[in-house]
Amino acid sequence: MAVVITNGKIVSSKGISQKDIRIVGEKIDKIGLNLIRPNDEIIDAEGSYIMPGGIDAHTHFDCEIGGIVADDFKTGTKAAIMGGTTTIIDFAEQVRGGTLREALDEWNEKAVGKTYTDYGYHMTISDWNEKTSQEMEEMIKEGIPSFKIFFAYEELQLDDGSIYEALKRAKELGALIGFHCENGTLIDKLREEAILKGNREPIYHMETRPPSLEKESIARLITIAELVDTPVYIVHLSSKEGYDEIKNAKRGGAKILVETCPQYLLLNKEYYLPKGEDSFEGAKYVMSPPLRDMESNKVLWKGIRNGEIEVVATDHCAFNYRGQKDIGKDNFTMIPNGAPGVENRFNLMYTYGVKENRISMERLVKIISENPAKIFGLYPKKGVIQIGSDADIVIFNPNHKTTIKAEEQTQNVDYNLYEGFTQFGKFEYVFLRGQMIVRDGEIISSKPLGKYQYRRIHS
Ligand SMILES: [Zn+2]
Repeated sequence: MAVVITNGKIVSSKGISQKDIRIVGEKIDKIGLNLIRPNDEIIDAEGSYIMPGGIDAHTHFDCEIGGIVADDFKTGTKAAIMGGTTTIIDFAEQVRGGTLREALDEWNEKAVGKTYTDYGYHMTISDWNEKTSQEMEEMIKEGIPSFKIFFAYEELQLDDGSIYEALKRAKELGALIGFHCENGTLIDKLREEAILKGNREPIYHMETRPPSLEKESIARLITIAELVDTPVYIVHLSSKEGYDEIKNAKRGGAKILVETCPQYLLLNKEYYLPKGEDSFEGAKYVMSPPLRDMESNKVLWKGIRNGEIEVVATDHCAFNYRGQKDIGKDNFTMIPNGAPGVENRFNLMYTYGVKENRISMERLVKIISENPAKIFGLYPKKGVIQIGSDADIVIFNPNHKTTIKAEEQTQNVDYNLYEGFTQFGKFEYVFLRGQMIVRDGEIISSKPLGKYQYRRIHS
């Protein structure tokens, strides 16, 4: 039996067309007119957009800090698929002194059999040595062709020489490395100074991570990548200062791929200011990089519109406000670092991107699905609606209007960054490899059916 989606508007990066889609098994079998045959299950998508399932290339599920966790792979991917995202790529993290293999085993333990979306991993390198260099090749054989390196966090960051060597190795292997660009050495100094001065409130999380330190790391990365002559990916770009650095390098021909997140487009540093009775509420927005000024919001939207920012991901890393974030009540350096968002990305980018005339539907599909699929080796299996691709399909009714409320969300965390925001659109149906997982906006799959995705980057 086949499923035929009829009467909808199919969106691709090249345009919008009104055609039927016929799904057989896990794949898209046909796209065209009059595809309905006897015994087909028919879904009438009148008035809705049909788009490839979202790909969130930056999540941290089951992200444990000191024994505390909010969203794990089960709740996190459930929230993702409710929000139209059918594939996530999470970060498996090497512990310094440990191996990449150990990190992969640990992440498989967390994820296998527990995901409602398809999934893959990037591998974080926090210990650069001969063994790690060899293991990069092994990871590629495991379907992990993308890695991550930090310029920040004492326990994770690598020095310039190691980054240079890792990039040379990535070039040799055809791998891509993503970089967290903030100067961790200087941030650590600023944090020490803040605490000594008695500056302990959440706002100092932002004050001690100024945009100049993002800009500095980006400039350094661009210099190293130029020496090696290989492409790099920048995760969660947050500031105008950082963007300007990238823009100039890109216009000079540098091969830099850029990701930002909804929080850096829609929220700003005012959120750290104490308001009302609860002076600690800024802790909800303690994430790195921190929120910036509204000028940064504006230029990042511009970057998306003109194609200089290729990907919008979430950096979903959830901790409860009560009982977890409040560990740092008297000291901002103790606040668990990260924020939720996987459920809201697609709606927010539609509402504040397309509906506000900042981007087109075609651009929406690119940043949410097609570009991450292409960059991270999932395309054309995923990231596009075409014959032979996985039937990862969302049917999105754009007329539905709701207000975001933590108490109504699927994410397993006690707040939402966008509480009270209006959002348009409802994912009436979500298909994962041909299986209907969401119907009428509700999960109908009784168990997680997500599969690990072997990825290959073709350069
Ligand atoms: Zn992250």
